[in-house]
Amino acid sequence: MAKTYVHTEIDGRKVKLSNLEKVLYPSKEITKAQVIQYYLGISQYILPHIEDRALTVIRYPDGIHKQKFYSKDKPDWTPDWLNSIKIEHDDKTIDYVICDDKASLCWLANLACLELHPMQYQVKHQPNPDHFIFDLDPDEALHFDRVKEAAMRLKPFLEKYGYHPFVKTSGGKGLHLYVPIEPAWDFTAVSDMVKALAGTFVSQHSDLYTLQIPKAKRKGKILIDIYRNHSTNTTVAPFSTRGKTGAPVSLPVHWDQLESIASSDQYNINNYQAYLDEYGYAWDGWREKAAGLHNQRMESVQTEELSPKLEAYLEKRNFSSTPEPVPTLAKKNQNRYCIQLHDASNLHYDLRLEHEGVLLSWAIPKGLPYENGVKRLGIRTEDHPIKYLDFEGVIPKGEYGAGRMWICEKGKIEWIEQTEKKYSFRLSHRKGASFHLFRTKNSQWLIEAKLDKPYVQMQPKHMLAEAAKDIPKADQYSYEVKWDGIRVFIILRDDQIKILSKSGRDITAQFPELWHTDRFKVEQGVFDGEIVVLDSRGAPVFSDVISRMHTTGERAIQSLSQRKPAVCYLFDAVQIDGKDIAHFSNEKRREWLDCVLKSGESYRYSDSFPDGAALFAAIESKGMEGIMAKQKKAAYQYGTRCRHWLKIKSRSSADCYIIGYTQGKGDRSAVFGALHLAQMDGDEIRYMGKVGTGFDMAKLKRLYETFSQVEKIVKPIKDKIEEERRTVWIKPEYQCEISYASMTSNDTYREPVFVKLIEKL
Ligand code: MN
Repeated sequence: MAKTYVHTEIDGRKVKLSNLEKVLYPSKEITKAQVIQYYLGISQYILPHIEDRALTVIRYPDGIHKQKFYSKDKPDWTPDWLNSIKIEHDDKTIDYVICDDKASLCWLANLACLELHPMQYQVKHQPNPDHFIFDLDPDEALHFDRVKEAAMRLKPFLEKYGYHPFVKTSGGKGLHLYVPIEPAWDFTAVSDMVKALAGTFVSQHSDLYTLQIPKAKRKGKILIDIYRNHSTNTTVAPFSTRGKTGAPVSLPVHWDQLESIASSDQYNINNYQAYLDEYGYAWDGWREKAAGLHNQRMESVQTEELSPKLEAYLEKRNFSSTPEPVPTLAKKNQNRYCIQLHDASNLHYDLRLEHEGVLLSWAIPKGLPYENGVKRLGIRTEDHPIKYLDFEGVIPKGEYGAGRMWICEKGKIEWIEQTEKKYSFRLSHRKGASFHLFRTKNSQWLIEAKLDKPYVQMQPKHMLAEAAKDIPKADQYSYEVKWDGIRVFIILRDDQIKILSKSGRDITAQFPELWHTDRFKVEQGVFDGEIVVLDSRGAPVFSDVISRMHTTGERAIQSLSQRKPAVCYLFDAVQIDGKDIAHFSNEKRREWLDCVLKSGESYRYSDSFPDGAALFAAIESKGMEGIMAKQKKAAYQYGTRCRHWLKIKSRSSADCYIIGYTQGKGDRSAVFGALHLAQMDGDEIRYMGKVGTGFDMAKLKRLYETFSQVEKIVKPIKDKIEEERRTVWIKPEYQCEISYASMTSNDTYREPVFVKLIEKL
C-alpha cells in the first residue's frame, strides 16, 4: 500500500504525518491518528516527565500484534530541529532522541512509538538521577489487590525516611512507585541506598515480597524491581501508552483512589480523561517534594554556601534520623510564611517568616492572637531553612523538637516594618488584621494583632449525614460509632465552655460535668460531638440523656449529674485558636482534635476504625444505634447534609400513629403497659403491633396523662390482637418514633422500642 502523507504545523514546526488511518490497536480499532491526538492532548502532562531526558522508544509501525522495534539511536530521518544527546556507554556511543516540545511528541507518535521510556536523569543534571523507582512486579498468579497492598505498605515505609512516593498504573500488571529526589547524587549512591531500603522492607515481609529476579524464586510473590535505578535503564513514562491490547496508558493516580482501581491496565486512551476530569492530575507539584537521600543528607549540606544564620539549625539536628529538611541555598525572596502546629513536649504553633534567605521563627504557645489588642508570648527560635515551609511529619523521639508537626497555614507576607527588634506585617490568610512582633528581652517576644474590625465568634451549624443501607467499603472512608444522644457544639473561649444544641439553643446549664476547660490544650475552639449517658456496658441510654435535658433547677441538675453523669464524645473540630479549619480534610481535623483534647472522663475522643463491617457487628451485638462512615478527604460543610458522611443504622426506625394503649399491670398499674401502633394507608388503618419498652416511669406518667385526654373510639381495626380486653382505643392524634430490629411475617415490628413522641405541629 502506498504511503499517504499530510503536513501539519505545531508551534511553528512542520511535522510530516503518514498513514493516519492505520489501525495500531486492532481490538479497539484505534488508529494512529487517535494516538497522535492522545499525545497532543496530554502534552502538558507528559512533557515535564520526558523533556531533557534521553529516550528509548518502542515502535509498533504495523500495530501491536506485529513486529516491534526497540530504538535507542535516533533514526537517520530525524528532522534536525529535534534535540538529541550522545551518551557514551561501555561498548558504544548512542545518539538518543530528546522530546522537549509538542512537535517532537507528535513526530514520535507518528513513528508509532507507543512506548516512551525516559532515563531517570535530565541532561542538565547528568549523571545524577532526580527520582528512584520501585516497580512492583507480581507473579502471574497474584491478584492485583496484593499489588495495591504492597504499594500501600511501601508508602508509609518510604515516608518514614522523609520521602514522598507517587504511584502510577503500569498499564500492565504491576504498579510503579516514583520517589522524587534532589539530583545531587550519582547512580551508585542512589542505587546502593535504594537496594538497602528495599532490603529492609522485604525483610519485614519475606513471605510476600522478594528482590530475586529468577522466576522460580518469585513464585507467589511480588518482585520489587529496583534494578532499573541504573544509569542505562529506563521505565515507561507517566502518560505513555503501552503496546498492549486495549491501548492502556501508564496513568499517575492519587493514593486515595488506588483502592478503587481494579487492574493496572484499567486506564486507556479512551477513559483516562474521565479520571483527570474527576480527580485532577495526581502528581501535581511532584518535583517540589524532592528529598535528599536519607543516608547522605548530612553530607549534602554545603556549609560554606549556607547562610551563617542556619548554623544553629544544623547543630541541633541529626539528619540521618529526622525527616526535617536539610538546608539548601535559598533562591530569591518570595515573602512566604507558614504556621505549623507542633505537638512537641508542649503543644505550640510555629510562625515562620521568609526573610533574607531564611525563615525567621517563633514558637507561639497560644497561637496568633485573633482579638484586638491581645498580646501573646512568642519565643524566638533558630532560623530555619526555606524548605521548612513545606515540612509536615513526625520528628522522632529523642530528636530536637520530637513530636508531630502539621502545616496549618501557608501564604504570603505583606511587610509593614522590619527591624532587628520589631517586625510588622499582614498575612494573606488573615485578612483584616496586622501583626506586630516586638522583642522584650533575650529570646522573648510579644505578638499583637490590630484588627480592622472586632472579632466575632461564628455561629456554627452542624454537618449532617445521609442515611445509607450498606457500609461503603472503599479505603477513602473511616468509621466511627454513631452515638445516640444529643448532638452539640462545644464552644471553648475565654476560659469558658458553651454547649449549643443542634437548634442553636444554649444547654450549658444542663451539664455541669462538662464545664472543664482544662480538658483542652488550646485556648479557643469549636468542637462537634454528641452528649450521651452511658449504661454499665458503655452503651448510650437515650432516655437518660433526654431526662438530663428536661431537668430544671440547679440542685436537681447537680444531683443528676452525679447519679447519671453525661459524657461528651467529640468527633470533629471546626475551629481552633481563632482559625476556621473546616476546609481541611476530615482526617486532618480529627488528627488535630485528637492532639488538642485530653481525652478522659467528661470529654472523650470518638475513635475511628478502619474496618466498617467489624465495627458494625460489634455495635449490633451491643444493641447500639449504628455506625458513621466519613470520607477521609472531605471538608466540614456547615449546615449541609451530604454523602461525605453516611449513617448506617443497626436498627431501623419508623414514625407510627398511636391508636390505643393497654392498662398496665404490677409496677405500671397506674399507667399504661404498651402502646398500639398503626400506619395510615389512605383511609385505612394498618395495625403494626405494640411497643412496651423505651419508657422510664417519668415518661410513662407524662405520656399516660397525654393519652388519657385523647378521645376514646371503638376498635378501629379488624385484626385480632393480644390483650384486647385491657385495651383503650384512642383517636390517632399522636405519632411517635420507634426503632425496631426487622419486620415479622405479619408485617408488624419486631422488637420495637419507643424513641420519642413526635411533637404536634
Ligand atoms: Mn516548634
